[in-house]
Parts: sequence; C-alpha cells; structure tokens
Amino acid sequence: MVDQRVRTKVATALDEAAVAEFEARLRGQLIRPGDAEYDQARQIWNAMIDRRPGLIVRCAGAADVQHAVAFVRDHNLLVAVRGGGHNIAGNAVCDDGLVIDLSQMRSVRVDAKARRASVEPGATLGDFDREAQTFGLATPLGINSTTGVAGLTLGGGFGWLSRKHGMTIDNLVSADVVTADGKLVRASENENSDLFWAIRGGGGNFGIVTSFEFQLHPVGPEVLSGLIVFPFDQAKSVLTQYRDFLETMPDELNVWVVTRQAPPLPFLPAEVHGKEIVAFAVFYAGDVAVGEKLIEAIRRFGTPHGEHVGPQPYTAWQQAFDPLLTPGARNYWKSHNFTQLSDGAIDSIIEYAGKLPSPQTEIFLGLIGGQASRVAPDAMAYSHRDTKWAMNVHGRWETAAEDERCIAWAREFFDKSAPYATGGVYVNFLTEEETGRIGAAYGPNYQRLVALKDKYDPTNLFHMNQNIKPTNGATPR
Ligand SMILES: Cc1cc2nc3c(=O)[nH]c(=O)nc-3n(C[C@H](O)[C@H](O)[C@H](O)COP(=O)(O)OP(=O)(O)OC[C@H]3O[C@@H](n4cnc5c(N)ncnc54)[C@H](O)[C@@H]3O)c2cc1C
Repeated sequence: MVDQRVRTKVATALDEAAVAEFEARLRGQLIRPGDAEYDQARQIWNAMIDRRPGLIVRCAGAADVQHAVAFVRDHNLLVAVRGGGHNIAGNAVCDDGLVIDLSQMRSVRVDAKARRASVEPGATLGDFDREAQTFGLATPLGINSTTGVAGLTLGGGFGWLSRKHGMTIDNLVSADVVTADGKLVRASENENSDLFWAIRGGGGNFGIVTSFEFQLHPVGPEVLSGLIVFPFDQAKSVLTQYRDFLETMPDELNVWVVTRQAPPLPFLPAEVHGKEIVAFAVFYAGDVAVGEKLIEAIRRFGTPHGEHVGPQPYTAWQQAFDPLLTPGARNYWKSHNFTQLSDGAIDSIIEYAGKLPSPQTEIFLGLIGGQASRVAPDAMAYSHRDTKWAMNVHGRWETAAEDERCIAWAREFFDKSAPYATGGVYVNFLTEEETGRIGAAYGPNYQRLVALKDKYDPTNLFHMNQNIKPTNGATPR
C-alpha cells in the first residue's frame, strides 16, 4: 500500500501513458504546463499566489472528480481543489501536483415552489444570486459576486442576509461529497450526518463537494441599500454611535463599516477622493419604507460627506463592491472576531486607518449576529456563534515592491487590536502562513473535527486547505 504521507508532488514526472489513460476517461479537460490555457488556469484571485501545478483537471461532473481522486491516490500525488479560486491563502492551486478545478461546473437549479436550489461547486455568488432572484429568492452569501459558493459555504459564509437568515451553512440542506476513498456520498441531517456536521465550517478537509442543496428565502427583488460616508475626523463619534445604535437594530437591517481612502465615487465631492473616510454600508432586507425610517438615525451620526442609498435590485447590491475587489491585485489579510466594539478597538481602528499603507487597503467590520448567533456553537463545525463582527484587515496593493510595507502595517494593526478581540477567527479569512490559528478557527469543535478527519480522510489526502490534521498524519506541504 502506498504511504500517503510521503505523497510526491511532481505530477509532470508521471508516465505519459498513465496520464493519457487518465485523460481519455475524462468528460472534462486536462491542462498541462505549456498548454495555451495553462497560465490562465493556474491564476487565482490573489496575485501574490503564483504556483505551477503539474496537471489541472477541469472537471465536467462528479464522475470526473471521482476519477481524479482515484488518480491522485494511485499515483500518490499532491492535490489542490479549486472552487471559485478566491481564497486568500491560495490553497486552490499547488506547485507540481494536480489541481481538481471545479470552475466549469456552474449550474444552479432553482425549485421555486420548494424554495430550494441545487448549486454546482464552480458557481460564483453572482451565478447563484442571478438564478435565485429570477424567482425573488436568495440565501445568505458574501459581498463580492465573483467569490465561489463552494469555498465560502464550506468555511461558513456570511453576508448582508446573515442577520436575518443565518450563515450560509445554516441554509445548507445537503451536499454530494466525493470522499478520500473515491466514493460519492450524500451528506445531510439524515444521511452521513457526521460528515454533514463537518463540512459546515470544516472547509475542504473531508472531501470534494460536487453539489450543494440550499434553502432559499424571499428577498427583494429591490432592497434598500447603499453607502453613507463620513469624514475621517468624525470617526470616533460616528463609530461610537454606530456601536450603540446596533443594540436597537432589527435583524432585517445590516450595517457594515469600511474605513479606507475614498475611491472616486460620483456622490462624493472631488476633494474627498483619496482622503480617509468612514463608510457605513447599509442594507435592509424588508419593506423599503420601513428601512428608510431606520437608517435616518445613521445619517444623524454626524455630517456626512455624501451618500448613495436607495432601493436597488438585490443582485446589483450584491455586486456593488466588485469594482474594489477585482482579481489581479496583491492581497494580504489579517482578521479578528469581536463580540463587542470597545473604545480600545475603535481607537486602534482609527489609529491604523489614519496610516493606511496603500490607496486600496481597507479595514472592514462585517456585522453578523442576529439569526447567525441563535444557532448552538456545536451544532456544526463552525463554532463562532457569538461573533458580532468579523474584522478584515484587508491589505491590497499593486506591486511586489510594496509587499513589505503593506504586510508590516497589517501585522502591526492586527497585534495592536488583538487585546480587544475574542481570539477566534473566521477560517475563510486566514492566510497561508496562519496555520497556527486553525485551532482558534474551530475552538471547542476542533477535537471532534480531528476525529472525523480520522474517519473520512485518515491519510490527509485533502490537505491543501486550512488543514485539520488526522491523528496519525502530519502531511508535509
Ligand atoms: C474579495 C473577497 C470577498 C469576500 N467576502 C466574503 C464575505 O462577504 N463573506 C464570507 O463569508 N467570505 C468572504 N470571503 C472569503 C471567502 O468565503 C473565501 O475566500 C472562500 O474560501 C472562497 O471560496 P472559493 O470557492 O472562491 O475559493 P477557493 O480558493 O477555490 O477554495 C477555497 C478553499 O476551499 C476548498 N474548496 C473549494 N471548493 C471545494 C469543493 N467543492 N469541495 C471541497 N473543497 C473545496 C479549496 O481547496 C480551498 O481550500 C471573501 C473573499 C474575497 C477574496
């Protein structure tokens, strides 16, 4: 039997006949180094990740995924799994090994009557929203429409709708999973319920999901949403009032904070462009007139530079931040969870937002709470139910020459704000170097996840992820 712990990484060294035989049985496409599509196929969202896989398999369906997993096992290969390719840590692509690329499997089928959707693992949030909104339906997803449904869901998933309808995983009904032994199994509350528990937050550690089934909710199609932007010198006052305002907010209302240098938005005076600002991103998942009344209080936090708030299609709001989050930039993130926004936390945000290292860098506070907090922390792998804000220190810049300065700023701010945070972190915001925080990402659920890793992937075949190591194996990367 092959020892999976000494898995070779060099797919290019494989016997050509074996590769040809593998390719002949694929419904999808095999891409090799030197192929015209190779460089495009190995690119992911974060331009800091530049890896050269030995083979890339663009799967066309679950049978291709099973075939690829068997090939990986038979040839003792390193394997990476790609959904939307957005993860900051870059685990969707590996050097030398084989990438199982799901990006062509993008079908979304909506059963409007049952309010359910079947979603393939290459679908983006935009694909999902577009199909579901045809019927005035949606499920909670993230804020950037080009993110993959797969990776977002497997880590937990939160966005504008999470206060009202919970995390993305709270709306997952079932999933089809190809496990490390190559079997295709269904995971739900009734079938393989331990696997279902594990994949709701446990990332790609337990197998490859080839289809997700989600619960949908009536949303929009028009929602009240937009930005209210305040001058940076009002930051302390508006953030303190925001903190207090939250205590009275209904679940339908969500308000995120973004501090950054102002992009050239047409509703902001030209002299503000490029200057530090505090923006409140507001979203109301209900009657527009009711939402209008509620957000009036936010306008009165101070004297805004300007605002752009009104009813708009939910799908438009779901794409509103896309222009600031395009692929191709260099990105480095640090993240903390907060249960409260103490004065110290606010002061540290203001201090570091006042010395941002690049025009695209931002600090954002994603508000969760509401329904997402009403689920027991051990109900599924994702445990941070008391998290009110996930803060993302989003370093973003264009050239390698800026790496050192921007990364140093993010690390310093992360350290400075740590005393006010919970110590927990959202697994989907961890960078490549943060393997030491995986325990913190799972908290009290970690040991159960290790036991399930022992059951479903004892040789750690799936370890290009925020890896939960099985008891017997510490697979070298
Ligand atoms: C600009 C931006 C905005 C974001 N906003 C939000 C947000 O609002 N809310 C939120 O919750 N998160 C957000 N995220 C984080 C996002 O959830 C993660 O980056 C997520 O991992 C992306 O999923 P993906 O499929 O695109 O990524 P990938 O990089 O393709 O995959 C991520 C991980 O999941 C594994 N994986 C992917 N597909 C499968 C599969 N089918 N089966 C098993 N394993 C798989 C991969 O191997 C990899 O380890 C954001 C990320 C970015 C870059």
